Amino acid sequence: MQGTKFCDLSETKGMVKMKITIIGGGPGGYEAAIMAAKLGAEVTVVEKNKVGGTCLNVGCIPTKALLASAEVLTTSLEAEKFGVFNDKTVVDPAQIIERKDKLVSGLVKGIEFLFESNGVNLIQGVGKLIDSKTVEVKRHDGGSEKLVSDKILLATGSVPICPEMFHYDGVKVITSTEALSLKTPPKSMIVIGGGVIGCELGQFFSRMGTQITIVEMAEQILSNEDESVAKQLLRQFKREKIKVLTATRVTDVNVQNTGITVNLSSGKTLEVEMVLLSIGRASFSKELNLDALGISTNSKGQIEVDELLETNVKGIYAVGDLINTPYLAHVASKEGTIAAENMLGKNKTAVHKAIPRCVYTDPQVAAVGLTEKEAQQRGIAYKTGSFDFRSLGKAQIIGKIQGQVKIIVDEKDVIIGASIVGPEATDLLAELTMAVHLGLTAEALGDVIHPHPTLSEAIMEALHDVHEMSINKVELRL
Ligand code: FAD
Repeated sequence: MQGTKFCDLSETKGMVKMKITIIGGGPGGYEAAIMAAKLGAEVTVVEKNKVGGTCLNVGCIPTKALLASAEVLTTSLEAEKFGVFNDKTVVDPAQIIERKDKLVSGLVKGIEFLFESNGVNLIQGVGKLIDSKTVEVKRHDGGSEKLVSDKILLATGSVPICPEMFHYDGVKVITSTEALSLKTPPKSMIVIGGGVIGCELGQFFSRMGTQITIVEMAEQILSNEDESVAKQLLRQFKREKIKVLTATRVTDVNVQNTGITVNLSSGKTLEVEMVLLSIGRASFSKELNLDALGISTNSKGQIEVDELLETNVKGIYAVGDLINTPYLAHVASKEGTIAAENMLGKNKTAVHKAIPRCVYTDPQVAAVGLTEKEAQQRGIAYKTGSFDFRSLGKAQIIGKIQGQVKIIVDEKDVIIGASIVGPEATDLLAELTMAVHLGLTAEALGDVIHPHPTLSEAIMEALHDVHEMSINKVELRL
């Protein structure tokens, strides 16, 4: 984008700057704020905790920081295979948490700096709608004020779901928020929910020495992904002695002084020190006063928006975990920038065609577009190509040979879905996300020269395999 374009948009109200108030400073809110400021608006963000929201403070960044420490531990334990000998490897969970905290606070400061340098005004307090132009803020310093603006963006995100029957107390029965700050990992833990957060944190604590049992009510962990993808991760969990109980519900949690007993639908009772709830998140709009303005929500409490991300009340927009799109930081931030442009007069449609889905376990899991199951359910005639990392030079070099790349194409050879299980899968997915977004064919992308020796060659080989042209293909050993 060029500077002159920004000026054009800000002039939608003549020489007077458009005023925008944003409630919530997570990825949806802060990306919107910076974009709107760059486009020439006068922007105020109201945030009741720290800027960066769930993602930066208790979500994406801290989980990945912990997992990075776990990866260093694994590398260290396997160092001998590379001809490197450590006398001993010692883990200090408290220092792992300290490193994570430092990293998070540095990144929070980075956003505060970006606000400052782009002229975004930050108010620390709880925001509430009064009417379609007014936000009331109860500031943390005890004062309150009313902000009148031309447009309002709601970006208050989501909170963990904690049904009463699980007796969440933040100490023995915890959510991901508390899990990220446990300086002494428990001896044993039941993770209720084998989705992305449950798998990531379950593996982290297992590597810290906790006996983990993941209980998942669906037929497989990562229930949104293909069975083959979940199976590959399950195989690694078994190697690490992480117990996984699928098609099983937790029926009862009893917290006692001595420990916790957990009853399962299978009739079994487990005794553990701690329970981690990771059964999903719910949009958080409780403090916004939506009913008074007649802002429409669906049965899950998600705010309804049109394709421009505007609610049914003109001038009020909503993005991120607050609306009915995948609860992911990159979705929230994309929606934030689109909403900012639309508030300033553009008509940009929010397109959710190619949303990357990433799981930062070891091996990593990453997918985009349709799964094979979804293609079948939609009656799409499709073909697949796959390639096993085991057959790839780079995977052998780095000693990470588990997993595969799988590509799904429609009858016109257009890539409609892809999944990667294996080393750096989440980074590798970018190429396939672009392919799904742009509607590229397997032949066109397979013709691109991929650097050697790199993990990206596995993608190229899987693309060639769609037409049975892979020269390196060997039978997949699952
Ligand atoms: P949030 O980030 O939740 O921000 C909302 C903000 O609004 C918060 O700061 C909150 O304090 C503030 N707020 C709420 N109400 C008010 C009010 N009334 N007044 C003022 N402020 C208010 N996503 C990924 O893409 N990749 C990942 O690897 C990933 N890992 C995750 C790991 C965990 C453990 C969790 C919990 C989530 C993870 N997510 C991940 C999801 C991601 O964090 C969210 O999708 C993303 O943060 C949503 O952004 P948002 O701006 O909509 O809301």
